[in-house]
Amino acid sequence: MRLIAKGNMKRGPMVYWMSRDQRAKENWALLFTQDLAQIYHSPVIVVFCLVPQFLGATFRQYHFMVEGLKEVEKTLAEKNIPFFLLTGLPNKKIPEFVKKHKVSALVTDFSPLRIKKEWKREVAQRIDIPFYEVDAHNIVPCWTASPKQEYGAYSFRPKIHRTLPEFLENYPRLKRHPITWKGEKEKTDWGKSMLTLKIDQTVPPVDCLKPGEKRAQKILRDFLRNKLLFYDKDRNDPTKDAQSNLSPYIHFGQISAQRIALEVLKSSFARELTDLFLEELIVRRELSDNFCYYNPDYDSIKAFPSWAKETLDKHRRDRREYLYTQDQLEYGHTHDPLWNASQMEMVKRGKLHGYMRMYWGKKIMEWTESPEYAMKIAIYLNDKYELDGRDPNGYTGIAWCMGGVHDRAWKERDIFGKVRYMNYNGCKSKFNIKTYIEKWLN
Ligand SMILES: Cc1cc2nc3c(=O)[nH]c(=O)nc-3n(C[C@H](O)[C@H](O)[C@H](O)COP(=O)(O)OP(=O)(O)OC[C@H]3O[C@@H](n4cnc5c(N)ncnc54)[C@H](O)[C@@H]3O)c2cc1C
Repeated sequence: MRLIAKGNMKRGPMVYWMSRDQRAKENWALLFTQDLAQIYHSPVIVVFCLVPQFLGATFRQYHFMVEGLKEVEKTLAEKNIPFFLLTGLPNKKIPEFVKKHKVSALVTDFSPLRIKKEWKREVAQRIDIPFYEVDAHNIVPCWTASPKQEYGAYSFRPKIHRTLPEFLENYPRLKRHPITWKGEKEKTDWGKSMLTLKIDQTVPPVDCLKPGEKRAQKILRDFLRNKLLFYDKDRNDPTKDAQSNLSPYIHFGQISAQRIALEVLKSSFARELTDLFLEELIVRRELSDNFCYYNPDYDSIKAFPSWAKETLDKHRRDRREYLYTQDQLEYGHTHDPLWNASQMEMVKRGKLHGYMRMYWGKKIMEWTESPEYAMKIAIYLNDKYELDGRDPNGYTGIAWCMGGVHDRAWKERDIFGKVRYMNYNGCKSKFNIKTYIEKWLN
């Protein structure tokens, strides 16, 4: 926890402005708000601000989020904590709420994304009460894990492992809050709030991944019971269902990475197996937050390391054998059925397999006119279709594909220069390409 703005405590409720971590249970930001409220004998309120549009999110992602928030509201009601859904921009709506309800202190969760940092900065300027930030998403708070942008997993890993034992503790239970808020509250009108959205409504929700905290727990149980055993062998095979599928739930905060890590450690699987999974869940994921937090250009080629910028510049004018427009890529109309199948997996399932995300990103780089344009298209498609899009993991994964972020220089070649290349034959040696193509192109 850190104090991001000082102020004088008022006599009203303590408010948790929920943003990234959309869960009632096992949420350090909410638990901190409750602790503070008990010290000052205040009620607790949770507020969520539904913005009319957010970084290209479509109906698919808003639906997933709102269904999850309905569950949050229900659980909070059982804990005597009212939930308010505000519509509009938080930099305006949160200060208005604080003033109207004479809020004593404001707590929010952490995100490394620019837009969230900006909202918080503006909220802090418009209120005069204490304003706290709690990193309820990372196991080791982002600002504690490292004070600077890390070069790669090799430099970040020892820092995380050193601090992990201090933070990887069990959660206390969220108590039924003993102090009742006496103010007035209208019933949340979810339907009316959805009408305020100015989003692309043409991308439908997906059937295979249903939202919510309870569903996230179920997916975790299924992963531990049926998949983790095969994670080392099968996780890079997109024809097998060996990944956890937890990323959409982690992205929306419907489950905490800390809970997942605790359950994995409790399991009886071999240490090499659990370590492999925890490397992805903790080191790689928290490294993405580190990248976006310390590098505000995370979604532009300005964020690439200097060796990658130099080598890509040198190869700017290299001839591209294939050149595609955004539309051709979006509709999966390239010469390569494997790539088209990956684009269709993203469009239809709302979650592209992890191994195929690398191939998908690398080929966009190879088949477009410049790294700038490649990055723009990849972010656009990722954030439009992926349920876990607009995440530090996405910006970092794309910057890894196109600009060698967290990677090293490889043998020089056309277009990519020294940035790592991936080809069709590499996929062929890993899995049955035909099975994958048939699954997604039919
Ligand atoms: C081009 C590209 C785009 C990507 N876009 C996204 C995105 O928008 N959102 C997103 O969450 N991830 C993204 N990733 C990272 C990774 O592919 C996904 O996190 C993973 O495939 C999610 O599936 P899972 O939860 O079933 O993963 P599992 O293999 O079961 O892993 C469990 C968790 O570990 C973390 N993790 C796994 N792989 C990585 C990784 N390479 N980097 C960071 N964390 C990781 C995730 O939180 C994941 O949920 C992207 C990677 C690339 C190369």
